Formats: sequence, structure tokens, C-alpha cells
Amino acid sequence: MPTTDFDPSALRQKYAAERAKRLRADGNDQYLALQGQFAHYLDDPYTPRQARPAKTGHVRFAFIGGGFAGLVTAARLVEAGVEDVCIIDKAGDFGGTWYWNRYPGAQCDTASMVYMPLLEETGHRPSEKYAHAPEILAHCQRIGRHYRLYDHALFHTQVRELVWDAERSHWRIRTDRGDDFSAQFIGLGTGPLHVPKLPGIAGIADFQGHSFHTSRWDYGYTGGDAQGAALDRLADQRVALIGTGATAVQCVPRLAPACRALYVFQRTPSSVDVRANAPIDADWFRAIAATPGWQQRWLENFTANQAGGQASEDWVQDGWTDLARRIRANLMKLPRQALTPQAMLAAYEDSDFEKMNEIRTRVDALVDDPSTAAGLKAWYRQLCKRPCFHDSYLQAFNLPGVQLVDTDGRGVERLSASGVVAAGREYAVDAVIYASGFEVGTPFARRAGFDPVGRDGLRLSGKWAEGMRSLHGCHVRGFPNAFFVQPTQGANLISNVPHNLSESGRTIAAIVAQALRQGQAEVEVSAAAEDAWVALLLSGAGRMIGSADCTPGYYNNEGRDSGMAGKLAVGYPAGPSAYFKYLQDWRDSGRFEGLDWR
Ligand code: NDP
Repeated sequence: MPTTDFDPSALRQKYAAERAKRLRADGNDQYLALQGQFAHYLDDPYTPRQARPAKTGHVRFAFIGGGFAGLVTAARLVEAGVEDVCIIDKAGDFGGTWYWNRYPGAQCDTASMVYMPLLEETGHRPSEKYAHAPEILAHCQRIGRHYRLYDHALFHTQVRELVWDAERSHWRIRTDRGDDFSAQFIGLGTGPLHVPKLPGIAGIADFQGHSFHTSRWDYGYTGGDAQGAALDRLADQRVALIGTGATAVQCVPRLAPACRALYVFQRTPSSVDVRANAPIDADWFRAIAATPGWQQRWLENFTANQAGGQASEDWVQDGWTDLARRIRANLMKLPRQALTPQAMLAAYEDSDFEKMNEIRTRVDALVDDPSTAAGLKAWYRQLCKRPCFHDSYLQAFNLPGVQLVDTDGRGVERLSASGVVAAGREYAVDAVIYASGFEVGTPFARRAGFDPVGRDGLRLSGKWAEGMRSLHGCHVRGFPNAFFVQPTQGANLISNVPHNLSESGRTIAAIVAQALRQGQAEVEVSAAAEDAWVALLLSGAGRMIGSADCTPGYYNNEGRDSGMAGKLAVGYPAGPSAYFKYLQDWRDSGRFEGLDWR
């Protein structure tokens, strides 16, 4: 039921008060890296490491990262006739985030039709509107087989050095497996959220029970499996789960009935909206997939609906498009002459209050205990933190062995040898599971594990010391024949990251094909084109999500002003749909304006 009866100024005050409780002087520095006694948390629990000879020689294209970015780029390169694409990944297979995240209940929050790339090319029909993790991982492997990407892939391999060799016009790549080879072109798709982090809790090193991070789920300890088998080894175990972000929201419903006791330690509640997952009907899918280009049209439709483009119908119809639909409906009520920027911002705020009130009302409807329900209500604007969607998370708190330990914004106080201390009380537990997320906002080189060295010894860390600079988020002056595959400074579309990656993949394949056709050894963005792009980005309205007045989290650098780096972490000012159109024209023109060819 829509809840339109609210007091905007009371809500603003409540949001500000909740935000104030969570602000910390140490911002992003509060988190711990998985080093020292925690380094083993990073071990691969899924695939044994295979001995193999070190790679030498030369390839046309090396791509660092075997997730969606690498897969979609390599697929388009293969289609363009570039067969020797060598994908390098620290994991034991393709999949990226879906390789690592196999925690119980893991599922994609974006609809399969738009999230899973290359459905049309591989002929795969997703089984559900929101696919579960094993199906997405299997799809990554399907892409790998379909495009014969396994033939050249290097798994369980970390790049340690990436250096431009100007004399030979190629990149030299050295890895932790003794590989030493070169590539004419390189792609970097190392992912935004792939280095797990731990909460900086006093005494964390003292805990003597079992512990692990959700991105390396220990099924040996919990029982069950990633395919959904019950976690059958927890019946006598008291488990603490620290964190209530998108990962926790998905694994709590699976942990809740399995543990003797489950304590969920919360610092900030997530907003948890309706999921409404459903199987995909074979006949329906056949009908929509009958015309070539169907997936591209779905991508464009979702992006237009979700991110302020023009679309007469909303095909996906879910929580991501709902807020945008509400804003449009509110704006339609205004007479044309009243459509000022202020009126638009007010319509956005009203729609958000309405949406968040519904989400809070849903908590009361689903959670039996009133004080638990009060603790689970999120008091911030929906896009301040990652919106979540689930149909059994809130109900899990009605089970007898499950307890929400709300820390009122302060977080866990400390860990002891045998438990977790919050608000002065110690909760004795056998295991601590960290659902504490991944590094965001730390330097590229720290997360990637190497610092690319471009022309004249220019390091990427130096180039981006004051924030990212690029053309389209993809081409960086000083780094010839290198392509960064990620959303920032391009469409910056967060609700469906694969749309960004797919468009980059097409563009890179077109550039490489042109270089090969014309016998060009090098392609590099000009300084003028990079400067002009950065100026264009800075002329826009700024960040659309995670503004400074939001409750802290990784969307807004934990509430700390990140200066120029934050101002540059934006997308095309006219929005994602306009960006994709612009990029297609730029690519299809064949002129690739702003790139220098040698
Ligand atoms: P998050 O960073 O979103 O969540 C980490 C959690 O740990 C937060 O609830 C945080 O609280 C909490 N935390 C940190 N420090 C402390 C502390 N000292 N005491 C208590 N709690 C603490 O990580 P997730 O793994 O949940 O999600 C990361 C991202 O991965 C998501 O935002 C999403 O983008 C993606 N994801 C996507 C999915 C999909 O459907 N496609 C599914 C799962 C994840 P606080 O909020 O206060 O900082």
C-alpha cells in the first residue's frame, strides 16, 4: 500500500540524526585488509591449483580479469577475428565475482534478461527472473566455452607487473606464476568489488572460534552447498553474522533455520524491498527472443526506465525501475511551466520518501517483534546505500533462534576469544561470519595487485593521484593499447553494470579490428581529448548516488569528502541512455575521434 501521508521535514531530521550516529573520523580507514593471520581467508576453497609451465611469447590481446568485463570484451574480439585473447585471473575459472561469491542464497538483484550477458549469442534461457549464483557462474563458463576462451586462459594467476615497451609497441606482463610474455593490447577488468575487507573491530585477532568471509564460504564448516542443499552442520552451532548489506540479506534466510543460534550484528539496516522472483516461462522466452537484437533492446529499455531515458513501456518492472516510475508520475502531475530544477528535485525527494515509507511499512507487516521491526527500518534515501530486495530476509527474524543485535549505528564493540561484544553485552558464539563487504575507494594498484607502468615510466597511481582521468573511462593518455573496462567516466550505470561492460567490449573490438586492418601498431587517446572529456564530466550535476549528505557507506566514501577524486567518479552528464547512444555513434563512425593512431 502506498504511504503518502508523511512529514518531509520530520523525515529529513530523522535521516540526518541517523546519519550523524554513523559518521566516523576514520572513514574508509576503519577497515582491515586480509593480511597476516587473516591472509588465509583469501585462499580459493573451490578449485585446486594446477601446476603448469610458465607462459612466454606474445599474444594479440591479454585481458586481466575473467569476470563479465573480460568475457564480453573477449567475445567481441573473437567475433571480430582476434582469436588469441589470453584472459588472466587470480581465480580458478571464469566468473569474477560469481566465481568467489558462492555463499548460500547468492543471487543476482538485477533481472537476468538484462544482467546476464550474451544470452542471445549463447542461446541460454535463464531459469528465473533473478538468477541464482550457480546459474550465473555456469553461464560465465558457457561463454568461455562458446568463444573458446579456455584455450588461452591463465587461472590462479596474479599479474605482478604490467609495463609498456615503447620500442616494441607492446605490453610486457609478469605474473606470480613465473609467466613473462607480451601482448599488443591489454584490457583491464579487475572489478570494483573484489578485495574482501574486514571490519576494524577491536580484538578481532583474539577470536578463537571458526571464522571466514562470505566471499569464501566454508561449506566444510556449515554443511550444504552453493546449489542450495541445507546447511546441515550448524544445528549445534552459535553463529555471529557481522554486516547487513546485500550479501547478508541473501544468506540470513539460509542460515536462520540451520543454526542453533544466529546473531545478526547490524550497524546500518538495509532497505529491503519486494523481490517477487519467478521462473522464466519457456514459451514467453521463445516469443521475446524470436527477433534478433532482442537482448540489446531489453538492455536499452531497462536503462531508459531506470536511469531517466525515454521509454514508453517498462519491460523489467522491478524495484530498480519503480523509483524512476514514481518520479516520472510525480513530475507528470506538474503543469509544464512548473517544471523547474527545484520542482524536479522535490518530486524526486517526495517519491523517495513515499518509497522508503512503503519499505518501512513492509518491515512492520513481516516482522513479529516490534522492537526488532523498529531496528530493521532504514532511515535514509533509497539510493544512499545499495537497495536490497528479498522475500524472506525480514521473516527470518521471526524464527526462535535468530536475534537481531542492532548496535544503533555504532557497530560491534569488540571481539573476545569466545564471542562478540555489542552494547556492553557479550554474545558467546562458535563462529563469526564476516559479511563485511569489499574494498571500495582504495587505490587501483592496491586492489589490482600491480601498478601499470605506461609510456616514459608513467605509473597509473601517479596519473590518477588526483582522481581518475580518461576518455569514456576506457582510454587513458600515457597508456597506449590499454583499455579499462568499467562504468566510471562512461555511463556510470550502477543498477546494471553489465550494460556498461558490453558496450565497452563492442567498442574495444571495433578499435582493435581497425588497428589490425590498417596495420597500426599503437592507439592512444590524445591529451586534448582526455582533457575535454574530463571537463565535460565536471560540467555535469555531480554524483547521482551516494551524495555527501547520505548515511555513510561505500557509495559515498563512508561519508567523507573525497575531493577531486569524488568529483571525477561520475558519468556522462546527460545520463546512461544518452551515453550509450553517443558511444555507438562514436564507434560506428569509424573515426574514433580523440584517438591517435601510430
Ligand atoms: P557491504 O559493504 O554492502 O556490507 C558490509 C556490511 O558490514 C554493512 O552492513 C556494514 O555496515 C557492516 N559492517 C562494517 N563494519 C562493521 C562493524 N564494525 N560492525 C558491524 N557491522 C559492520 O557488503 P556486501 O558484501 O553485503 O555487498 C557488497 C556489494 O556487493 C553490494 O553492495 C552489491 O553491490 C554487491 N552484491 C550484489 C548482489 C547482487 O544481487 N547482484 C548480492 C550481494 C552483493 P554499514 O552499512 O553500517 O557500513
